[in-house]
Order: sequence, then C-alpha cells, then structure tokens
Amino acid sequence: MIRVAVRVEGVVQGVGFRPFVYQAATARGLAGWVCNRRDGLGLEAEGPEDAVRDFVAALSRDRPPAARIERIAVTRVRPAGDQCFRILPSVPDAVVRPTLPADLATCDACAEETVSPGARRYRYPFTNCTRCGPRYTLIESLPYDRPRTTMKQFTLCPACEAEYADPADRRFHAQPIACPACGPTLRLVTADGAAKSCSEPLGGATQALLAGQVVAVKGLGGFQLFVDATHADAVSRLRARKRRPEKPFAVMFADLPAIAAACALAPDEAAALASPAAPIVLLRRRIDAAIAECIAPRNPWLGVMLPTTPLHRLILEEVRRPLVCTSGNLAEEPLCIAEEEARGRLAAIADLFLVHDRPIVRPVDDSVVRVGAAGLQVLRRARGFAPIPLSLPGPVPCVLGLGAQLKSTVALAVSREVVVSQHLGDLHAAAGALLLERTVADLVRLFDAQPARVACDLHPDYVSSRFAERLAASWGVPLERVQHHHAHVAACMAEHGLARPALGLAWDGAGLGTDGTLWGGEALLVDRARFRRIAHLRPFRLPGGERALREPRRAALGLLHVLLGDDAAPHVRELAPADAVVLLGMLAHGVNSPVTTAMGRLFDAVAALAGVRAAAGFEGQAAMELEFAADGVDDVPPYPLPLGLGTPALVDWAPLVRAVLEDRARGVPSGMISARFHAALVDLAEVVALRVGLPDIVLAGGCFQNLRLTRAIHARLSARGFTVYLPTRYPPNDGAIALGQVMVAAWRAEEGRDVSRNPG
Ligand code: ZN
Ligand code: ZN
Ligand code: FE
Repeated sequence: MIRVAVRVEGVVQGVGFRPFVYQAATARGLAGWVCNRRDGLGLEAEGPEDAVRDFVAALSRDRPPAARIERIAVTRVRPAGDQCFRILPSVPDAVVRPTLPADLATCDACAEETVSPGARRYRYPFTNCTRCGPRYTLIESLPYDRPRTTMKQFTLCPACEAEYADPADRRFHAQPIACPACGPTLRLVTADGAAKSCSEPLGGATQALLAGQVVAVKGLGGFQLFVDATHADAVSRLRARKRRPEKPFAVMFADLPAIAAACALAPDEAAALASPAAPIVLLRRRIDAAIAECIAPRNPWLGVMLPTTPLHRLILEEVRRPLVCTSGNLAEEPLCIAEEEARGRLAAIADLFLVHDRPIVRPVDDSVVRVGAAGLQVLRRARGFAPIPLSLPGPVPCVLGLGAQLKSTVALAVSREVVVSQHLGDLHAAAGALLLERTVADLVRLFDAQPARVACDLHPDYVSSRFAERLAASWGVPLERVQHHHAHVAACMAEHGLARPALGLAWDGAGLGTDGTLWGGEALLVDRARFRRIAHLRPFRLPGGERALREPRRAALGLLHVLLGDDAAPHVRELAPADAVVLLGMLAHGVNSPVTTAMGRLFDAVAALAGVRAAAGFEGQAAMELEFAADGVDDVPPYPLPLGLGTPALVDWAPLVRAVLEDRARGVPSGMISARFHAALVDLAEVVALRVGLPDIVLAGGCFQNLRLTRAIHARLSARGFTVYLPTRYPPNDGAIALGQVMVAAWRAEEGRDVSRNPG
C-alpha cells in the first residue's frame, strides 16, 4: 500500500475535475480525498502501488475535455488508512486567486439527454453539467458558486438538488444546472416585447426562420442574429438591415457531416469545431455548397460552427438547414446582452426575438479560429477561450493593459498569470468605450486586483490610451506607453515563453512609432523591455489619413506620388479626376497625409494597382482579396524588393511598384501580380532574417492573418534553420496588443529602469 499527495495547477475548477478524480479513484478502489485549493486542486490517494500509479497517470490522460493542466506535482506521503474516497469542502483560502473558467459547449452526455424522449431534460434548452455549459458569461463574482452566478434566482428542484449533491453524478456541484421544473424558460417576443402567441417559442422561431425572417436569439454570451443560410433574399435583407454590405457571415450547421458536405474539412479542423470551445472555424468552401453566395462574397473561405448550447441544437434540428449566425449588434458596436436593450437596438434588424430569463453578465462573442501555418490559430478570442489565463515563468507585478483601438481587449497580469479579456470590438462608438471601462472594472473586481502599473499604446488619441491616463492618475500609479509593434512581438514571445532576444517581423496596419510616423512594416529586434528598429518599409504618405483604410486607391496614389509626382493619378484606377487633384494637393503639401511604413497599406496599394479593389467595404478587404486572387498561382518570379544598408535599413518598394505597373500595362492577370508580390515578401523575410542572424523569428501583426504569406514565410525560414514563432492562442491582430503591453510593462518593472523613451 502506498499513498501520494498530488497538486494539480491550471484550469481545473469549474470543469468537472473533482467528480472525475472521485470516479477515477473509486473505480480503482483507492481511498483518500480531493478538494479545491488556492492554486488549483489538491488530492491524496492511497491503495495498492499499481492502482495508485495507474490513477496518477489517468489524471492527465483522461482529464475532462475542458481542463488544462499547467503543472502536476506528485509526492509520496505516509499511508493514513482511509476507508473511502471523499470530496472535501474547499479550504477557506481556496479561492483567493482561482482561475475563472471559460464557457463550454454542450457535452455529448448532455446532448444525448436532450434528444432522448422520456429523459428529464428532453428538449430542455438549458441542459448542462460539470463538463459543459455557461461559466464566464454568468459568473458575477468569485468564488465560483451558484449564489454568485445569474442562476441564483432559480432554486434547485429536489431532483436537481439530488444530482448536485451526488459525487458520482456528472452534475455534482455543477453550478448552473437546471431542468424544466426549476430552470430558465424560453419566450418568443416581438420588438415591442409582446409575446408571440401563435405557438410554443421554439416552434414559432423555427417557422419564422423557414419563412426567411431574421430571428434574434439570446445565446450564451449575447444576442445572435439568425437567418436561413440557403435563402439569398433573407441573407441580403439581413445585410441591408445590419448595414454590413460585404463582410462575411458565419454559418451554423447541425453536425460535422453537414459541414463536410459544404466545406473541405480536415481532422484537426473537425476537432476544433467539436472542442469544448466550439469556435467558428474558417474552412475552404466547396463550390457546390448549398448556401447563399452573398454570405461571403468573393471569398473562398467560410466561417462555420456547430451548435454551442442545447438551444442552438434544438433550433438547428427543427429547421434542418444551415443558418447564418452573426453577432446581435449594429455594424461594429458591442454585442447586446439584455433583452430590453436588444429589442431596442435590434428592432430594425430582427423580426422576432427568442429570449429567456437567465441574465448574461458580460458580452462574449463567438471566437474565430483557423488551422494555420503552425496548427490552430485564434483570430478572434472570445467564447470558450477567454478568460483562460496565460501562465508565465514567474510572478510579475500587477499590470493592466488597455490595448489598442480596433479589435480591442484588456489584459491583467495577476501573480504569474495574465488574463486577457474577450474580444470587445471597436472603440470608436460610445458603446465601445463604455464596454472597455466596464470590462476593466469587471476584471479588477473579479480578481480583487490592485494594478501597480497601467499600460497603453503610444497613440495618444486612442480611446484606450485616454482611459489609461485617467486610470493611472486616479490610482496614482505609473503609466507605461508601449509602442504598438513592440507589443505585437512581445505578445507572441510571451505566448511561447520566449525569453532570449528575437527578430520580430511586425507586418501590420498602422501603429504609432517612436518617431511620430505610422509604423507597420517593421523588423524589430526585441529584447524583452527594449527593441531596436532593424528595418522598415520606405515611408510614403497616406492622403486623407484614416480614410485611406477604406480606400486602397489612396495608398496607391501615395506610393506613386513618390515616384511620379503629379503624373501619378492616371495610373490609379477608379479615382475621379476632381478627387485626384485634391489628394495630390494634400500629398504635395504634406497636409492631412500622415507618413507611414505600414505593410497593410502596401497590400492595399498593390491591390488597387493590380485592379483587385480600389475601395473597400471593411478594413482589410482589399488585402484579403489580393491574397485570394493568387490562389493556385505558384512558383512565380518575385518582384524586386531590395533591402538597403544601415540601421534601420530601408525596404525600397519602388522597383516593385514599377514592376507592378509594367505587368499591369502588359495585361498580366491580377492573380499573377499578387503571387509575385507575395513571393517578394517571402524573399524579404529571408533576407532580413539572414542579415540579423538570430535563431528565433517572431511573425506578428495583422498581415499574418494572410495564410498564403504566413505559410510561405514559415516554410522558407524553417528550411533555412530558423525557429519561427506564430501567434496561436492569441490573435496576430490587435486583439493581442493588450497582452503585449502588459508583458513589456512587466519586463520594464523587472529590469528596474525606465526604457519608455526608446530611441528606436
Ligand atoms: Zn454536459
Ligand atoms: Zn430542476
Ligand atoms: Fe496592430
């Protein structure tokens, strides 16, 4: 007989770990106990040596799907002669700094139960257990117990109470459990709040969807808008009402076979779809997919997802066709979570509202992932991923990072972990700014944190930067301004635990640099709190500043003006002569024409010059379509894109732009121009990496959402012997800026010197 004491750290609370341990121990005839601890889970197990060893191996091997084990420590202790295995109450200090669980999609057992006639929860939309269901979206405060969740208003019935108290049941201490007798109920209402009396709520919603209507559904983390994905008119109506003319919609399918019929589906993509996080996964759409073309116009990819809750499953089962599923908001505003707010703000979009009486504490959008150049890559990190923390090698000061301006998130370092909030969206609108403030208050309160530093972007006009200034002043703590692309690279280094200096290729949209220009085509040598600008694109001007984001032709004119002066205009397509005069005037005098080195704008310019797109419906559209244009065009000669001498070295795009104009004049197809442009960037990455000579290369910034570019650079640099690091759990885009800011501020604190005035 032996006895072991085991400590398990990671995401092990709120995911069904204690019932799992109990069952694993009792199945092997072991005695002992398990309980929640301050940093995770503690247990002791006693029995025959073989059984104990097998049990310890099973802890990580057979763990519940949503559990994440960071550390597991096993020590031999003296046998105590226990007679049974028990689940002990949490020790009083058990929950000082617990990990906050993410929301989990319906598990197989619960899914089975809701489709089994005669089961207690047959067709019950709010079925869940220790292995699935809402978590982050219903937790009001910690420790995580039902009275501190929005389930507190529903008193457990005797049958649910018995499940909750039975250690052998998968609903043992499952905080959000409910059943038709005691839990939340559905209602179908119109925008004015009147109940739709025609039929039961689910049936009524189904009929409306089949008739081509838009139904707003109160989901897990907020309202979602549903419409029949096979009904082109219905989808167009949703686009018009939502004022979203072209940005792709995601589609929810009933099951994996339905997805495989519409898209190419690899095993790792299927695994991501069916995982507890159940994100939207970007897949290659089949040409004959039976969905409306206007769901993702001119886009070979389709964002697909499986039902995330029993409510979604029931809807999909009834309509028997894929449904467009998009955030319940107007344009780029935050997600609606309260019924009254949704009925008000979505009144002109949705025909009906399928609602329920379980409040949502905070808006959490659907996450978006893709199988990228090096495995799974998160592009929008929200439901199922947030707020799972990132473990750091050691403790850091408590730092709050406020992020950037678009694809905003907030990050908070607590002890040796960083929690990054869910994707909050754009901060331009008042609602976005309010959500940012609420999220900061929420995280600080949940973790009982007292930030010692506040970090923000160098850009003084970002809503997040101004809020950071106010917070730092009111808390009386230092404000750390972190250069945008330094933050991009730092986030990726932190994610991979990369401590030694690395070369970061930060290819991005614009972010303010230390010289006051808009950077974004940068090669940075990053050594934790410090960085050195090794190379960047030759600067050019963007006539009209921000407006250039929606008008790639403006970036093209900015480039050509450097080469051709006033003769630039005729080479830019879809540019009205009157506009050309105004824009050339701006460029000539440097008025309202910020100087940039952003790679994202070079993509825009090439897209416009290649005839792919002169004006964009959403940020990044031109660059995306340029990428897609090159599909199937491989092994092409790269355009010349020479790297100059000195530090920082200039990447001169002039020969490339001239070659694009020549190709264009000779009628070379845009796909070929795009492929040669991509090939030039791959060569550039290699030339920079070889010149710097560091073994570790980090690729970060919005341009690395481009899979063609990312794959090719990853392959080339790996073949040359470099180790290439890509963002995986955090997005390559500005969703990771808050994390990078926190890391840089923490490193500065660690080094104990002020390097905020980086010479660049
Ligand atoms: Zn379940
Ligand atoms: Zn019940
Ligand atoms: Fe960025």
